[in-house]
Amino acid sequence: MENTPKKQSNVYVNVTKQFNKAADLMKLDPEIRKILAKTTNEITVNFPVKMDDGRIEMFTGYRVQHNNVLGPYKGGLRYHPAVDIDEVRALATWMTWKSAIINIPFGGAKGGICFDPQRYSAAEIQRITRRFTFALGCNIGPEYDIPAPDVNTNAQIMAWILDTYVSTQPPHERQACTHVITGKPVEAGGSLGRDKATGQGVVYTIEEWAKDKKFNLKGATYFVQGFGNVGSWASILMKQHGSKLIAVEDVTGAISHHDGIDPDDLNAYVLETGGVAKYSRAKPLDHKSFMSTEADIFIPAALENQITKETAFLLNVILVAEGANGPTDIEGDEILQERKIDILPDILCNAGGVVVSYFEWLQNKRSEFWDLEEVDSKLRKLLVNAYMRVRDTAEKYKTDWRTAAYIVALMRLEKVYKERGIFP
Ligand code: GLU
Repeated sequence: MENTPKKQSNVYVNVTKQFNKAADLMKLDPEIRKILAKTTNEITVNFPVKMDDGRIEMFTGYRVQHNNVLGPYKGGLRYHPAVDIDEVRALATWMTWKSAIINIPFGGAKGGICFDPQRYSAAEIQRITRRFTFALGCNIGPEYDIPAPDVNTNAQIMAWILDTYVSTQPPHERQACTHVITGKPVEAGGSLGRDKATGQGVVYTIEEWAKDKKFNLKGATYFVQGFGNVGSWASILMKQHGSKLIAVEDVTGAISHHDGIDPDDLNAYVLETGGVAKYSRAKPLDHKSFMSTEADIFIPAALENQITKETAFLLNVILVAEGANGPTDIEGDEILQERKIDILPDILCNAGGVVVSYFEWLQNKRSEFWDLEEVDSKLRKLLVNAYMRVRDTAEKYKTDWRTAAYIVALMRLEKVYKERGIFP
C-alpha cells in the first residue's frame, strides 16, 4: 500500500497543455489531433458495499479508456480519496503515450475508486474491489481492457479482481481469462519481476542518463518522495549502484540522514508500521527542507503536482527522475528547464510497470513462465531503446525531454491512424 502526500490541482489541464505543445512542434495532423485530444470511453459506476458492521456504503468508481488504436486499453486502478474523473482522464491519456513510446501493443486506460483504503478493513477492501469489478462487467476483458496496480492497490487486489471476473464468465471460458488483469501474485499467474518493474525501469533509465552524462552513480546521493511500490523499489535498486539515499517523504512525514538511509531496512520498517515518519535511524524533516535536500537525483514517486512554482525553486539536484505519474506541473516544468535541471519524464521513466505487465499478459496467453533474467533483460532493452528515441527526438526538435517523449508517442499514433484511416 502506498502512502502519498496530497495533490494540488487539475492534472488533466496539464496533460492537455503538454499534448498541445508537442502537437504544435511536430505539426501533428489536425484531424488526428482532434481524435487524440479526447478520451474514447468514460465509465462511472456507483455501487453498494456491505461494511463489517452491517451498514451499506455507496462507492464511486471510474474507468476511462483513452485510446486503443495500438492495442487493448491498458492501465492501473487507483484507490485514493483524490480520485476523480479528471484525474483518471489524465492518467488514462498518459498510458496511451507510455505504451506508444515503449512500442508495446497497448492503448491507454486508467481507473480507480474515490476512497481512503486506510480507513477500511481488509475484508471491506476485498468486497469493495469485487463489487467494483462486477460493476465494470464487460467494460474490462483480457483482449479489451486490462487493469493493473497503481497507488494503494497491489497484487492481492489484482487476485481478487481476477477471481471475481473469472467467476462471472461462462465455465468453459474461465481458464482463458487470466490475462484480464496484470500485476497478479506470481502463484496466481503473475510474472516474476512485475512487483519491482516500475522501480527497476526508473533505475534503468537513470543508468542510461548517467552513461550519457558520464556521471558516476557510485557514491551519488538521491532522495525519494513516496515509499510505496515505486519509491521503495527504486531506492533498493539504486543502492546496488552504491548510491546513497539521504531523504524520504511519504504521507506520514519526511526523514533524512546525510550518512544515508538503508532502503531495505526502511522498507521493512514501513511494511510493519505503515509510514516513514517515526523511523529512528533518521531525523524528521519538514516538507520544505525535504524538497530543498542537496543531492544529485530526486525521484518523485508519489502523487501528481508535487514540483510546482512553489517547490521547483527549492530543488537542489541535477536530475529529476519521475517515478510518479505527473509529479511536475506546467510551471514547475518550466522552472526546472530554466534552471537546467535534467528531467526523465514520467511517460518514459516509469513505463517499466506497464512493460512487465505486457510480459505478464504474453506469458498468460502463451501459457509460459519466464525467468527473472529474461524479464529484466527484455525490460531493459525496451526501455533503453525508448530512452534513445526520446533523447534523439529532443536533439532533433531542440526541445525538452517531456515534449520529445510526447512527439515519439504522437508520431507512432499518427502513422497508425494514417495507415488505418477512420471508419467508415
Ligand atoms: N499503474 C502503472 C502505471 O501507471 C502500471 C500500469 C500497467 O501495468 O498497466 O504505469
